[in-house]
Amino acid sequence: MDSCNSASSIERLLFDPTPEHAMLRETVRRFTDAEVEPQAEAHDASGTLNTALLRRCGELGLLGLTVPQEDGGIGMDAVAAVIVHHELARSDPGFAIAFAAQCLLFVNNFYHASSREQRERILPRVMTGEWIGAMGMTEPGAGTDVLGMTTTAERRGDLYVLNGRKIFITNGYEASCVLTYAKVDGRITAFVVERGFPGFSTGEPIKKMGMRASTMCELIFDDCQVPAANLLGEEGGGVTCMMRNLEIERLCVAAISLGIADRCLREMVAYAVQRKAFGKSIAQFGQIQRYIGEAYSDYEAARCLIYREAAKVGPGQRNRLGTDAAKLFAAPMAKRVADAAVQVLGGYGYTTEYKVERFLRDAKLNEIGGGTLESHQKNITRDLTRALGA
Ligand SMILES: Cc1cc2nc3c(=O)[nH]c(=O)nc-3n(C[C@H](O)[C@H](O)[C@H](O)COP(=O)(O)OP(=O)(O)OC[C@H]3O[C@@H](n4cnc5c(N)ncnc54)[C@H](O)[C@@H]3O)c2cc1C
Repeated sequence: MDSCNSASSIERLLFDPTPEHAMLRETVRRFTDAEVEPQAEAHDASGTLNTALLRRCGELGLLGLTVPQEDGGIGMDAVAAVIVHHELARSDPGFAIAFAAQCLLFVNNFYHASSREQRERILPRVMTGEWIGAMGMTEPGAGTDVLGMTTTAERRGDLYVLNGRKIFITNGYEASCVLTYAKVDGRITAFVVERGFPGFSTGEPIKKMGMRASTMCELIFDDCQVPAANLLGEEGGGVTCMMRNLEIERLCVAAISLGIADRCLREMVAYAVQRKAFGKSIAQFGQIQRYIGEAYSDYEAARCLIYREAAKVGPGQRNRLGTDAAKLFAAPMAKRVADAAVQVLGGYGYTTEYKVERFLRDAKLNEIGGGTLESHQKNITRDLTRALGA
């Protein structure tokens, strides 16, 4: 566990970050301490996305984190993406999820699927945050079973006409553009749908348990007219587009869990030292030491796994097994650590003032969003049994 303001020597020793990664962590940490932390509670309470803060991320270059420099991004890798999500989630996991929806689910996904003309037209707007982006894959009747989606797209002259619904779409309510999937003659195809296209609308924000500093809503395509210029890649190319992006998405959801555990561990230790009971600091009680010791071990194990697997993820490098494993381990780990933090803080931990209850509510999402725990178990088993030729 390192201090809020400086990367520790242990971290350097363990992971030997490049100067670029170290500088990125410092920049995001300073930004998080100064601008993300102070607004987190208010946006959790109001259930609203801080769009101005997302645009600040654009000013810092973070929304084009993985876009090559020649296309206006800062050209960094999956380790960098983990660093940013880890740091943001130490203060505001809800905002970190909204950031992920913009930077990865839209921008990174779009970049690898788009033509030069589409990049020139759309990238500058989403990388600055002028346009909020979202990604719509899940449908009311098809979540884990994503290939079972029923949204259709029919070609009519220079247009595709989309019909169907998407649900639980992060940033959908504020979005100016959505990367979404629909079946053309039964084949999953990717499109960018822009706010204002006839037949496109969004529902009201759906109320939820945690991650309330981001919103989610339904996307409605009712004879929605999408110019053929907004087809991404080829008809039937949607599955490739979706799968190519899933690994970095999962990895960064795992990094958000890491940030949650990092913060909860710090809160737990600081409280245990100063809280007195029976004439002693509660940090001297063996049962409290068990919470702290197990939380630290959990956090460190997740940190090693996530950063190790991040080094093996890239546009031309597949790592489904590693990223599934990282998220499968990190999501329940963060929930355990956040729960332990609430327990160590006792009644104070249950109040909103001490913040750890927010992190516990936020932690649960990562066992569902970006793939459920069960989907990771299924994928891992499939990959391991295939590797054995079973
Ligand atoms: C806060 C939030 C934000 C989200 N943001 C987005 C977003 O931006 N874009 C987007 O497209 N989606 C988003 N989602 C949707 C999310 O990805 C889905 O909720 C998730 O994939 C699960 O789908 P489902 O809810 O339909 O559950 P289901 O797939 O119906 O699953 C229900 C249960 O059945 C289990 N199950 C299903 N199939 C199997 C199987 N074969 N074997 C064993 N168990 C199985 C699941 O693991 C789960 O426990 C978001 C969800 C939430 C809650």
